[in-house]
Amino acid sequence: MIIVLLGPPGTGKGTQAKAITTRHRLPHVSTGDILRKNLADGSELGLEAKAYMEKGELVPDHLILRLIDSRLSEPDASGGCLLDGFPRTRVQAEAFDGDLSAKGLSIDHVLLLEVASEALIKRLSGRRVCETCGKSYHVDFNPPPAECHCGGAIVQRPDDTEEAIKNRLKVYQELTKPLVDYYEAKGLLRRVDGDATPQEVEKRIARALGDPV
Ligand code: AMP
Repeated sequence: MIIVLLGPPGTGKGTQAKAITTRHRLPHVSTGDILRKNLADGSELGLEAKAYMEKGELVPDHLILRLIDSRLSEPDASGGCLLDGFPRTRVQAEAFDGDLSAKGLSIDHVLLLEVASEALIKRLSGRRVCETCGKSYHVDFNPPPAECHCGGAIVQRPDDTEEAIKNRLKVYQELTKPLVDYYEAKGLLRRVDGDATPQEVEKRIARALGDPV
């Protein structure tokens, strides 16, 4: 099964991705996580992506398509995956559809997580993440401990600054939101209201996917 998780930054895609991948035993493929890992490792891709990521701009399509191609050819993705943060442009979506159809495959579901933009700014500016395991906290809603349960340091993502957040939301509106129509026209889109507790959103997603709740 191939599931695409779509939605502006801050809608809780990362948190929900973990719940969906556990339930469906799928690998969680997050292009943002892969890029951050490359950045931390100082790889060539990480160096190329750094400036775009820090400003909240999109990394060029050809780099992302290469990254996805390589990740999806790993054995754990042979039975499908959950894509979080990909595709993000029409070019990426069309290239991905082309690759899948060449393999006789197609996307099963596109889940759109929707949250009002004022709430997104609040969610993102208060977000703190563990540098080691990626667990997400929020200064008001889920205050982070001095140190993550895994022992990792709690940090603010460099693209969670006010300026980068505004840019990321603008980029979403301009480049990623058009994918809503693209997937709706294909009959794949399932809309989920993400303005609720993570547990409630998890149930809404399960219902949208036709899973037992
Ligand atoms: P995320 O963790 O999904 O919010 O991604 C963090 C950053 O990584 C984005 O703001 C982009 O700079 C970059 N990025 C992640 N996925 C993509 C993608 N599919 N296309 C272009 N840039 C991406």
